[in-house]
Amino acid sequence: MATSLIERDKQVVWHPYTPQKSMPVQIPVVKGDGTYIIAADGKAYIDAISSWWVTIHGHANAYIAEKIYEQAKMLEQVIFAGFTHEPAVRLAERLLEILPGNFAKAFYSDNGSTAVEVGIKMALQYWWNKGDKKRNKILALNHSYHGDTFGTMSLSERGVFNLAFHDKLFEVIFIDPPVAGTASYAGPWDEIACIIYEPLLQGAGGMNMYEAAALNELLKTCHAHGVLCIADEVMTGFGRTGKLFAGMYVEEKADIICLSKGLTGGTMALGVTACTDKIHSAYVDDDRQKTFFHGHSFTANPLGCAAALASMDLLLRPECQAGIDRISRQHKHFIEKLKADTRFSGKIKHLRSLGTIMAFEIETGRDGYLNAVGLEITRKALEHGVYLRPLGNTVYIMPPYCITEEELQKVYDVIEEVL
Ligand SMILES: *Cc1c(COP(=O)(O)O)cnc(C)c1O
Repeated sequence: MATSLIERDKQVVWHPYTPQKSMPVQIPVVKGDGTYIIAADGKAYIDAISSWWVTIHGHANAYIAEKIYEQAKMLEQVIFAGFTHEPAVRLAERLLEILPGNFAKAFYSDNGSTAVEVGIKMALQYWWNKGDKKRNKILALNHSYHGDTFGTMSLSERGVFNLAFHDKLFEVIFIDPPVAGTASYAGPWDEIACIIYEPLLQGAGGMNMYEAAALNELLKTCHAHGVLCIADEVMTGFGRTGKLFAGMYVEEKADIICLSKGLTGGTMALGVTACTDKIHSAYVDDDRQKTFFHGHSFTANPLGCAAALASMDLLLRPECQAGIDRISRQHKHFIEKLKADTRFSGKIKHLRSLGTIMAFEIETGRDGYLNAVGLEITRKALEHGVYLRPLGNTVYIMPPYCITEEELQKVYDVIEEVL
């Protein structure tokens, strides 16, 4: 007798970020269609968080699928040391044109954590290659999240995600997210190699938003002291914050930028770390020890690059920007509506939005990722055909840009209903 997919899954699969005791059942999915995730039982759910923030053009986009298929018939993969190919070169050319800063080189990897690992290693070895042994400390922001590998855990807020590994993480100097007019770090500066930050919006740390002017001041101060600035735009990149990149809101530009998530429209695993000519030139040397000894099996995977090129085509179309602008406006209206609604006063707080992202906290007397109210909201919203996945008591919406006005309104209605 056929066992259900749920049962077979339970037997052999371990899911990410999922408690293994009394866990909610995993919903078998057979299809994606634009804004919708379609389950095996025929139920359709609006994917209000773009499947962990990656699916910017919606699911099963025919244009991206076509480009991946064409590439797969030509060249699916080739070692990227000693060989190159058109999709990788073209993607680098096109990215360097639109990135916020004077970036000169693109280094490929295959996810957000590796893009950040590459960025931090690039910055540390920059100083090592220059013979500056003292510049070896890293600044990062409180509430930050940069990934789940050891290096990126070290750069992230010490919290519940990495509790079991605290004694294995390397030392980082944590400072408060910038506030205009206040210095969050007073020095000493001569030991600082680099600073890493999620520009304007700290994602997994709780959708914390901070001002562009404050970030600009911080970056200016860092640059004045010779510190390299690494922008982690894994989440904020590719239109999420209203502009193509969050770095476009700030005048002072990063030296290194890390990208993934929306890069391929959420279709293929790919990471990019771009750096300025200043960084790269420290690696141009006769001494072979000054080589950047880093690479992954799937570095610059041609299918991933083809998907990223196709996703960029879609992103740069005026109708895509129009969708982003419309979502931003709808979020602002919804926030005003929630603020004015007396049913919710004292029950929700910190209503905020930035571009296509909208968030607030549920007042439970205790903030944090382990707050169980999030699970309850996921469960109730699913019953109404919407997929939400709060970070503890932080509820947020981060929809695909193709979501229609009516579909987004449905998400709002369901949130009100669930509240
Ligand atoms: C998701 C995320 C990462 C890690 O990316 P993965 O692809 O999940 O490894 C890094 N930085 C930020 C800001 C992220 O949101």
